[in-house]
Amino acid sequence: MGADASAGASATVFAAGLVLPVSSPPMRDGAVLVRDGRIASVGPLSEVGREAPDAEVRYFPRYAIVPGAVNAHGHLGFRRGDAPSGGPFSSWLEELISKLPEKEAWTAEAARDSAREAIEAGTTFMAESSPYGECLPQLAGSGMAGTVFAEFFPGDFSGAGPEQRVSAIFEKARELREGLPPRVDCRVSVHSPYTVDPESGALAARRAREEGSLLAIHLQESPEEVEFVREGTGGLADIFGQNRWGGRGVSPVRYFEEIGVLAPNVIAAHLATEVGDAEIEILARTGVAAAHCPRSNEYLDCGVSPAPEMVRRGIRVGMGTDGLWSSPSMNLFEETLFAVRLHGVSGKWGLELATLGGARALGIDGETGSLEAGKWADLAIVEAALASNGAGGDPEMEVLEAAGGGGVTATVVGGNLLHDRLGA
Ligand SMILES: [Zn+2]
Repeated sequence: MGADASAGASATVFAAGLVLPVSSPPMRDGAVLVRDGRIASVGPLSEVGREAPDAEVRYFPRYAIVPGAVNAHGHLGFRRGDAPSGGPFSSWLEELISKLPEKEAWTAEAARDSAREAIEAGTTFMAESSPYGECLPQLAGSGMAGTVFAEFFPGDFSGAGPEQRVSAIFEKARELREGLPPRVDCRVSVHSPYTVDPESGALAARRAREEGSLLAIHLQESPEEVEFVREGTGGLADIFGQNRWGGRGVSPVRYFEEIGVLAPNVIAAHLATEVGDAEIEILARTGVAAAHCPRSNEYLDCGVSPAPEMVRRGIRVGMGTDGLWSSPSMNLFEETLFAVRLHGVSGKWGLELATLGGARALGIDGETGSLEAGKWADLAIVEAALASNGAGGDPEMEVLEAAGGGGVTATVVGGNLLHDRLGA
């Protein structure tokens, strides 16, 4: 795609009372010039306007423009209203599994609704995990950019060995990639240490590295997962009676390191239970990224992930909503606001994790996650009170509070206005 600004090329200026590029300081009366879906420049409205005199200008004086939310771990195929009851994790999971047959009838509708809810909350990129990639059509049809991680469960392939199982899921992901919109992708997920056997997990991880693919995993999410991996006992051992590879005497993080899963192409969701210095050291050394889902962790009695410490130790951390059966909404800014209050950190910390942090965790920070020339025009326009108007105060916190509370007025993905409450 050329950056040809000649006749016919459409340009739009999105301007607002406050622009928060995240990768640079907040700017009053700032503007973002969008050409061919990409950001052509970011700066004061007066300058950007001169640069593109023919551009259509959308000016929101009482609003803030922020990068769109990057959801680093979500599930689209669940709906609000009939979630299994909360923790302990294994009773939630057991109830979830018992509902799977009836769920089939409405999964597609739930995925459409969840995607729409995410867009209306300012999400522009979604890393989604679903069994065998079942929610890919709905993500691809939503207009968001994103990657669907096809979860595979080796127990479904009776009679096949690890090589065949792993080949089957990678072939499935390859087929699903055909004919997708430009910014939508499909990759593989090794679901968890208690559902994927060590041979299949290790082979899938090696294959993903060889392909240069991201690999999504759930890791050290619950006390019962820790017990399963350490002792081979507990609620998860009871549910998955045929899965006999637990009882390794180490934490799930250590176990996944030992079998060769952990590497910089891996994004691990949750890391909520008993993640101490030893685990953080392994994650930092292996270059694994993390998706922080604190509301799901609370609902399932999983503990509190040490996200601020992980960030301090140089681990790439993004935010994730998880899905509507363990979380109250698909609003990533609301999730982030919860994290900011939980950890007592700044709004700036939160806004960065919700946007650029997620992009770094997913290895797409060269393309999205902040308002910078050359990146895709992925942004949210937020109706914020802006008492501090960018001068002093905590404008990032004000914007998170507004966006987390339903204040996203417009969402733009690759220059396309996907959601516009003010009307075009
Ligand atoms: Zn999850």
